[in-house]
Amino acid sequence: MDLNRATEIIKNSDRITVFTGAGISTASGIPDFRGENGLYRTVQKTYNLPSGETLFDIDYFDWDPRPFYRFTGDMYGLDPQPTRCHRLLARWEEEGRINLVITQNIDGLHQKGGTKHLLECHGTYDRGHCRACGCEYGLDEYEATMIRGEVPHCSCGGVIKPDVVFFGENLPDEFYRLWENPPESDLILILGTSLNVHPASDLALKLINRAPSLIVNRDATDFDRFIDTVIHGELEEFARTMEESFRFTL
Ligand SMILES: [Zn+2]
Repeated sequence: MDLNRATEIIKNSDRITVFTGAGISTASGIPDFRGENGLYRTVQKTYNLPSGETLFDIDYFDWDPRPFYRFTGDMYGLDPQPTRCHRLLARWEEEGRINLVITQNIDGLHQKGGTKHLLECHGTYDRGHCRACGCEYGLDEYEATMIRGEVPHCSCGGVIKPDVVFFGENLPDEFYRLWENPPESDLILILGTSLNVHPASDLALKLINRAPSLIVNRDATDFDRFIDTVIHGELEEFARTMEESFRFTL
């Protein structure tokens, strides 16, 4: 992986907008969703689902929320921590190099890693709403139940669902506001995503029409030809090299 070019580009940028996907979190132990040994394949078996995607299907959740919460409990058990790459982005933001991180992930690792300006395209576990009465809950009100892998209930008896975006649900309003008003960027840095999850990835594709772009991803993507600089490799190696080039310790 030749990262000299990437280093040079990033050193000359101070309004970088970053777009991340599952690949940035795999080093923390969270499996990719769609890969060969991805989550969707294993959860189908583990939780006896019609398909892996059912885990995040809103109709299925309303019918039976237990598999989603068993899965969430299991993920808590892994106790994932921010990767070197998450910390790298927080460091660059602190230095004023990054203006916004847009993520497709719902693992909360960007916040944990220290990123402040963040758009979570697929929502968050930090808040939840009752499916019956619409009442809002903070994470601290239902986290303990989720950690046990059990279904949290509202005082009305309805099921609480975290504000993560399921199939069949709209993306958060912030996503559409950003779509209408994209940030001024001098570089679009795409990390750990094959840009195949729509409509979130459409935002990245829109942004790369407006500014120079650089992708670092393990595998080739269908969109590489539209991106100015393409690097195939592991993000941990990318982060380690950047750590050396920028002379800081993460
Ligand atoms: Zn309720």
